[in-house]
Amino acid sequence: MRAGLVAGNWKMHGGLAANQALLAALKIRLVARDGVGYAVCAPFPYLHQVGAALAGSAVAWGAQNLSEHDAGAYTGEVSGAMLREFGCRYVLVGHSERRALYGETDQQVAAKFVAAQRSGLTPILCVGETLEQRERGETELVVRRQVEAVLDAAGVAALANAALAYEPVWAIGTGKTASPAQAQAAHEFIRALVGKREKGLAAQIAILYGGSVKPGNAKELFAMPDVDGGLIGGASLVADDFVAICEAAETK
Ligand code: PEP
Repeated sequence: MRAGLVAGNWKMHGGLAANQALLAALKIRLVARDGVGYAVCAPFPYLHQVGAALAGSAVAWGAQNLSEHDAGAYTGEVSGAMLREFGCRYVLVGHSERRALYGETDQQVAAKFVAAQRSGLTPILCVGETLEQRERGETELVVRRQVEAVLDAAGVAALANAALAYEPVWAIGTGKTASPAQAQAAHEFIRALVGKREKGLAAQIAILYGGSVKPGNAKELFAMPDVDGGLIGGASLVADDFVAICEAAETK
C-alpha cells in the first residue's frame, strides 16, 4: 500500500502569534500513523518558527517555492540548499498561483523540481487545468504537458522522492470542489501517465488532490482509489479543519 500525505499550504498568510497557536494545536492533535503523513508549507520568514514548533511532532514542514538556481545574483530568491540547511523537508513546485501570477513556465517548474531534489528536498509537484481548459476538453492535454515536462527533465526515477498534487485551478480557493469522480479520473490519468514510463513508481507515488478540500468533503475525495491525500489551502489555517481533514485521510 502506498503512503498518503496531507499537506497544508498557508499561502501568504500567518503571523507569529497565530502560527504559534495553530502549530501547538497540530503538534498535540496529529499523531503519527502508518500510511499517512502530514505537513505544513509556510511562508519563508516563518519556516524557522514552524520547524521549532513542530520538532518532535508527527507533522513535517515545507516551503511554497524555491529558486531553480543553487546560489548567485538572484535578488529575492531562496535556494533549496538554504531551505534544507535548517531542516525543511518538502517544497511546493509549480503551484498554479506561481504559474499564473509569476509566469512560471513548465520548463522553469521542471528546473525547480530538479533543484529541490538536488538539495535533498522532496518536491510536491502541482498540476491542473483552468476552467477554460476543462471546458475546451483539454484537461488531459494540459496535465500531460505539465507532468511530462518534469519527467523529461528529471527522469521518471526522480518520482521515488516526490509527490504529485492534482489541483484544478477552478477549484482552488473558490469553494468549488472537483467531484470525487472528476478527481479520480484525473488522478487515474496521471498515474497511468507515470505508469507508461515506470509501472512500479506509478503504483507507489502519492497523488494528492487540492482545491477547496474541507472537513465536509475530504472523506469522499480521499475514498477514491487514486486519491492519496490532499493539498489544503484555506482549511489548513484552521486547526479544527486541518485536523479533521487529516483524520479523513487516516481512515482511508
Ligand atoms: C491550494 O492553495 O493549493 C489550495 C488547494 O487552496 P484551497 O484549499 O484554499 O482551495
